[in-house]
Amino acid sequence: MSQWSDDDAAAYCKRYGDEDLALRVYTSRLLGRDSSLVLHGGGNTSVKTTATDELGREIEVLCVKGSGWDMAEIEPVGLPAVCLAPLRELRVLDELADEAMVNAVRRNLMDVTSPTPSVETLLHAFLPHKFIDHTHADAVLVLANQPDAADLCQSLYGDRMGIVPYIMPGFQLAKKAVEVYESNPDVEGLILINHGIFTFGPSAEVAYRRMLEMVTMAQEFIASRMEKSPIFKEPTHTGIDTAHGMTLAVLRGCLSSSEQGSGSVVLVGRVSPQITEFLERPDLEQLATRGPITPDHVIRTKQKPLVLPQVEDPETFKTDLAGRLDTYIQDYQAYFDTQSKAKGADKTALSPLPVVFLMPGVGLITAGRTTKAANIAADLYEHTIDTVLKAEQVGRYQPLPDDHIFDMEYWSLEQAKLGKKRPRPMEGLVALVTGATGGIGHAISVEFAAAGSNVIITDLDQGRLQEMAQALASEHGTAVVPLVCDMTQEADVATMIDRAATAFGGVDVVISNAGRAPVGPIAEVTRELTASLEINLMAHQFLASATTTLMRYQGMGGCLLFNASKSAFNPGPGFGAYSIPKAALIALMKQYAIELADDGIRAMAVNADRVRTPLLDMDAVAKRARARGLELDAYFRANLLGQEVRPQDVARAFYHLYLSERSTGTLLTVDGGNIAASPR
Ligand code: ZN
Repeated sequence: MSQWSDDDAAAYCKRYGDEDLALRVYTSRLLGRDSSLVLHGGGNTSVKTTATDELGREIEVLCVKGSGWDMAEIEPVGLPAVCLAPLRELRVLDELADEAMVNAVRRNLMDVTSPTPSVETLLHAFLPHKFIDHTHADAVLVLANQPDAADLCQSLYGDRMGIVPYIMPGFQLAKKAVEVYESNPDVEGLILINHGIFTFGPSAEVAYRRMLEMVTMAQEFIASRMEKSPIFKEPTHTGIDTAHGMTLAVLRGCLSSSEQGSGSVVLVGRVSPQITEFLERPDLEQLATRGPITPDHVIRTKQKPLVLPQVEDPETFKTDLAGRLDTYIQDYQAYFDTQSKAKGADKTALSPLPVVFLMPGVGLITAGRTTKAANIAADLYEHTIDTVLKAEQVGRYQPLPDDHIFDMEYWSLEQAKLGKKRPRPMEGLVALVTGATGGIGHAISVEFAAAGSNVIITDLDQGRLQEMAQALASEHGTAVVPLVCDMTQEADVATMIDRAATAFGGVDVVISNAGRAPVGPIAEVTRELTASLEINLMAHQFLASATTTLMRYQGMGGCLLFNASKSAFNPGPGFGAYSIPKAALIALMKQYAIELADDGIRAMAVNADRVRTPLLDMDAVAKRARARGLELDAYFRANLLGQEVRPQDVARAFYHLYLSERSTGTLLTVDGGNIAASPR
């Protein structure tokens, strides 16, 4: 299980220079990359070393993980140095408020621009050891969340580990931890009941090896109590069955349009053998609502999930869900009122909506403003399931009571971890683009992704879609799902929409863009016209029809945007097979605008002209240009503005139509100005 390698350790030292810091980075990463030990910014590590001040004096410092850093990717700057002596002096105090503690730590930073050191900094400072590692290892939490956790851990570890009763992170916990250590200075680490584990040592390697050894001891103990041998690695996932797409759309719609929420959310769904085992338990409801495995999780998962029993169809689900959501909200408000009153705390309630949904027959579903947030909640909850299942085999899963969970949930230092980044305009929304790998389709996908939207891209070529999805996601920090679909096949389109619904829980805006541009004299293109009607008219109808079903279940309105053409109003010779379906497409758009307005669903189109894309047969265009006495470039600029229309100009038009909340049944022309093509 140990990943330590002398070669790697030497490479880190060479790369970072300072040996203490280099090895601190090295084993922090080793711990951070093992999801059974550390998840999403959880845990922290430190090293005591020296730094030099402006006068050249050597000062003893504590380099401890800064908040906002993930151990898996930590760099030396993620381990800010704090002067150690002034921190240690704080131990004489009886009390120290959180804000004062943070202030004292920040005031002693060597570099004032550093991130704020971990809320567990004082614990690291008070303990004398050079290297200290802290994780919320699953296996330890199985034992630390038992009614007899202290006795159990003591009998397993004997004198090797000190046992610290639960105290919220901060000054009091730091004092208690060092007291436990001082009562037996030979301990190799500390077990924090209901919280996690610390190990320490004179070197990075010793502290790291002790962490692994103690966690392995916990795993072996758990294995000895289980009927079948337990798995201590990531489970294999299958996606949510597309048959549940519309059910998820109902859930997403209810959450997004709730007055108690903070706007649109996206859903993440997971299924694995372990999730299924958990969801099928007869005691699911009471087991799942006992509380989180470590209070650290509460800000991302809330204190309880919502269990939703299996229902046959989305309609029944919708009726059932409303009642259950109301009950959850009332329970949450009661929890908030009781706890804040008992503590005399003047707090503002957070959103009372659930984040984790347990749906037997469907899977584990989580909601978030971003897919990243929803995925973090899903990761944490999967580890919760694993821990709870094992804890029940060992004895009884008994986490902290509401009282402590509330303190953590409403702790200002914990809330700070969520960050206050201003949301992007399309955060929480989902756009679906067809013909996405083409020039205009690509530009549209970029436009929406850059605004923070999640994007579903469809087209025919799997390889190109996949490549584009990766590039878009990494460039714009949003989730992009590629779905291969032949838009001319009605059944395929319906399936694609179901898959889209399971990808994010729904769709807010569809940009129906896929098309083809056949040419030829109208009297000779009967077959081409038939094919063109399929892709340039019927494919839009298939998509709009399937999306309507989805958007109605979602109940959040929505937007259908069509890529028509100036040829709908201003046909040219030889383009009949193209302009006829495009003219019909405008009529189709208007029909949707009329019939879906009651559902808050808008329908609009963009008429673009002379955009250089692979769709165009450049030889034919050059010929047409020459017939008008123009060179190719001049042909593309032959409009009132004298500017060539680029794919991104068309993309922006779609984006602005989407933003025009009080517009429907209309179209926007993007052709640089062409009076002959204006609607009349
Ligand atoms: Zn912790």
